[in-house]
Amino acid sequence: MDETVNEAPAAICDRCGEEVYSYELVHLIDGFIICAECFDDFVFEYFEDCLMTGGEIKEMLSNNDTD
Ligand SMILES: [Zn+2]
Repeated sequence: MDETVNEAPAAICDRCGEEVYSYELVHLIDGFIICAECFDDFVFEYFEDCLMTGGEIKEMLSNNDTD
């Protein structure tokens, strides 16, 4: 049990620039390497166009009722 974790990083997170090692989990989104720590923020920004308030959604849904 003397396995030294002494390898070079496998990649660099495209968002924060942190080193990513081969045993770590990352997301590859649209060609961007996103580490676990950046994932939440990245996703939030990625789907920013989908952001709206509950009120806006409510209005949208009621407009769909073409009765
Ligand atoms: Zn990162």
